[in-house]
Amino acid sequence: MPSFQAVSQTTPEIQIPAEKLPADGRFASGPSKVRPEAVTALAEIADDFLGTSHRKNAVKDIVGRLRDGLSELFELPDDWEVVLGNGGTTLFWDAATIGLIRDRSQHLSFGEFSSKFAKGVASAPFLADPMVIESNTGDHPEAVGTPGIDLYALTHNETSTGVSMNLTRPAGADDDAVVAVDATSAAGAIAWDTSQVDCYYFAPQKAFASDGGLWIAPCSPRAMDRINEIDAGPRWIPPGLNLKTALDNSVKNQTYNTPALATIFLTMHQVEWFNENGGMSFSTGRSQANAAAIYGWAEKSDAAQPFVADEAKRSQVVATIDFDEAVSADDIAAVLRANGILDTEGYRKLGRNQLRIALFPAIETSDLEALTGCLDYVIDQLS
Ligand SMILES: *Cc1c(COP(=O)(O)O)cnc(C)c1O
Repeated sequence: MPSFQAVSQTTPEIQIPAEKLPADGRFASGPSKVRPEAVTALAEIADDFLGTSHRKNAVKDIVGRLRDGLSELFELPDDWEVVLGNGGTTLFWDAATIGLIRDRSQHLSFGEFSSKFAKGVASAPFLADPMVIESNTGDHPEAVGTPGIDLYALTHNETSTGVSMNLTRPAGADDDAVVAVDATSAAGAIAWDTSQVDCYYFAPQKAFASDGGLWIAPCSPRAMDRINEIDAGPRWIPPGLNLKTALDNSVKNQTYNTPALATIFLTMHQVEWFNENGGMSFSTGRSQANAAAIYGWAEKSDAAQPFVADEAKRSQVVATIDFDEAVSADDIAAVLRANGILDTEGYRKLGRNQLRIALFPAIETSDLEALTGCLDYVIDQLS
């Protein structure tokens, strides 16, 4: 741990005793903690991997291990494909807007990320106005099966608010309607059922403890049929956004253009770490233990409480914790930062007296327990 460094002149000068500090101070909701073991493994193979052609076997083997590892982790049916490409989740939204929505989509909008996809689709001149169902922050709406809706856009975990939802295919949805799920912060840490979903897309800088810039989208036959249908139709699709091109390359363990090789390796390493230790029960178990540590602390604390009232919707990957007026969450986050405990600040646009703390599987429960001890210490010093 780095020693105390005041981050700004207004940060209260509170030095947390060294024995209270977590061993690793990274609690960011994304990019999130990368496991040192994965970085060491990357350094070990670096000379034969980094700086080599992504069209040759050294790299294609790692892409193949990543795709196979995800199929194993998610227990994908044999007729699914793991599709991947460059640009992260934000780029995937654009690719889906142009290559996965036939005419009209329905979006559940309950925070910063879920609202962004809906806004992007609303601005597409070749699509009908989307149906957007909103709820208050701290909650999520339910999808409504509706004739003529050809894509349902769900978000497994809304990272800005710490709300997660169960994934179910809406009753009454058209037979060929695609259920597309933004799983960026949930994938690998919250269970889901492949029978309820057609396209489960994410970027690997959250629960997969890698770096950003890549999108990964396990797709069902229904989703691939849609990709093929739109590609064969009259719509103009920019080559870099073409999901059919991404699909064709992915089955060859390639990407359309050059990917970040370190990102692919670190993601593969995390997926194999999950699988070697028992798969989703292992990874979700780690997040659940982390969630129990932080929410358990908040429920007992006089100064704090979980923001999400409904326990069933409370995220097990990103905890949002409200603080009483007597203590400033911004001050707490600044003091923690000065003590080497990073990125606990709340989501700005929510505008609450709140901290947001990642609970991803890479994070040790003992470090979250240490964090709660540091929170008690800082709150005591500030009040
Ligand atoms: C982080 C995040 C995104 C954005 O991912 P990028 O790879 O930065 O585009 C989108 N949706 C959710 C739910 C996220 O958590």
